Amino acid sequence: MKRFGVLTSGGDAPGMNAAIRAVVRSGIDQGWEAFGVEHGYQGLLTGEFRPMGPRDVSGIIQLGGTVLGSARSLEFKTEEGRRKAIRHLNQRGIEALVVIGGNGSQTGAYSLHQMGFPVVGVASTIDNDLVGSDITIGVDTALNIALEAIDRLKVTASSHERAFMIEVMGRNCGYLALMAGIAGGAEAICIPEFETSPETVADVIAKAYERGKKHALIVVAEGAKHGVIELEAYFKEHNERLGFDVRATTLGHVQRGGTPGAFDRLLGTRLGAMAVEQIAAGNFGVLVGQVKGTITATPHADIVDRVKPLDPKLFELANVLAK
Ligand code: ATP
Repeated sequence: MKRFGVLTSGGDAPGMNAAIRAVVRSGIDQGWEAFGVEHGYQGLLTGEFRPMGPRDVSGIIQLGGTVLGSARSLEFKTEEGRRKAIRHLNQRGIEALVVIGGNGSQTGAYSLHQMGFPVVGVASTIDNDLVGSDITIGVDTALNIALEAIDRLKVTASSHERAFMIEVMGRNCGYLALMAGIAGGAEAICIPEFETSPETVADVIAKAYERGKKHALIVVAEGAKHGVIELEAYFKEHNERLGFDVRATTLGHVQRGGTPGAFDRLLGTRLGAMAVEQIAAGNFGVLVGQVKGTITATPHADIVDRVKPLDPKLFELANVLAK
């Protein structure tokens, strides 16, 4: 092994930079040359490679986002696209690649591995939907950002005796919404995994009002079956039965761009270093993640095309605590 590459792919997540830094410096410590690939898989296709020394990753551990940039690439999803990517890697003498990203990115990494290119994945997505890592890089920071917004909305909600509906990220996965809802003391939580009808949410809000609550919070995941727009329309139509006046806020990309907290910096660092250990051991086609508190490498074959289930007990607990 002489040269290896690293890229970040899919949605950016706070802590990705800590992982890049750890991968680059640990790889150099092994005596290898490090190459950063810009703009994820897209950069493999357009040949955006840059050599990276220890100083190129100085001063980035505290930055959100990814200094390598990220992108979504449709061309990479085709076999022809992946052949081109492997050609570009071979032309530069890069013998192994670290892919830092979420579900889609790891599926792409596994495809490269199946085509014979040595790849190691690092679990990073704010969705926390990857099998093979109980918690992924970026989740903790994104959750704290969502929570800070929820806490602030609760203050203004109480002052005006209003209900607030907050949309948090999660197209297919309600982890962030569920955890933010529980930690923020929400009255209702709407996530893709468990259906909650507008009637049920309205009922919960009306009951909270009748019980004399000064505020009510509804946390809605982006991908909930009945989303913010539908809920808002329903509440408008049934305004008199709710008691509260309901306002909606969408947190959107604010959740992604935060300064990574200690947890994500440490997780990014540990997973990045472990990815290099896998390369050194010749253990490819694996995802590096944290399982039951231990940094672990799980074969990509065991994790792709699977979605980590949410614990239904947590959803039930959220409903109990909303009394
Ligand atoms: P996040 O969920 O945090 O946004 P992600 O890694 O799941 O992260 P995606 O947009 O799903 O983000 O995937 C990132 C990139 O991975 C895609 O743009 C595409 O290039 C590649 N990819 C996704 N799915 C596949 C697939 N089935 N085969 C090959 N490549 C894929």
